Amino acid sequence: MIIVMGTPGAGKSSVVDEFVRRHPDAKVVNFGTLMYEIAQKEYGLKDRDEMRNLPREKFRELQRKAAKVLLNQPHDTIVDTHASVRTKDGYYPGFPYYILSKIKVDAFVYIHASMETILSRRMRDKSRKRDLETPEQIKFHEEINLSLVCTYASQANAPVKFIINEDGKLEEAIKEFEESVKPRE
Ligand code: AMP
Ligand code: MG
Repeated sequence: MIIVMGTPGAGKSSVVDEFVRRHPDAKVVNFGTLMYEIAQKEYGLKDRDEMRNLPREKFRELQRKAAKVLLNQPHDTIVDTHASVRTKDGYYPGFPYYILSKIKVDAFVYIHASMETILSRRMRDKSRKRDLETPEQIKFHEEINLSLVCTYASQANAPVKFIINEDGKLEEAIKEFEESVKPRE
């Protein structure tokens, strides 16, 4: 599997969605959507951005159930997810060892954009209830994500490809993404 991570607003889903548009046969799973489908059914949630406010135990349970679905996906699946999720209890690891140890990861792809870009994208995106974070908090979240992705890479013995996705540079980001997800010998 290819695991795609990045701080909210870095443009992770824009890269992944455009990739799918160009490669309709690609198998892509959005981990947040897996969790949200379960949250709608089991907790009657009406907004995917509300999952972050669930009590810790419920959040953990949702993650575990979504991970179970992931285990049944084909090996060449691309997973759109998060290195960490900012909840009221703190930064929650997106891929704890109990999940990582059960899947075969070919590579991690980390989508990055500058703090200024992330801030302005979050303000423009009216379709989501993105957290209102200061530049300092975004920087801190990015640092947490970077250290976590390195931990995951070390646990899974897989490389991390770092892709910069600044405004107006989506084409370059997609090209790099296509290169990273190409099947290897
Ligand atoms: P997204 O649409 O990618 O921003 O994801 C929506 C929500 O799904 C996030 O705010 C988290 O609550 C949840 N989510 C996504 N990936 C994970 C993960 N690996 N672990 C825990 N929660 C996740
Ligand atoms: Mg997304």
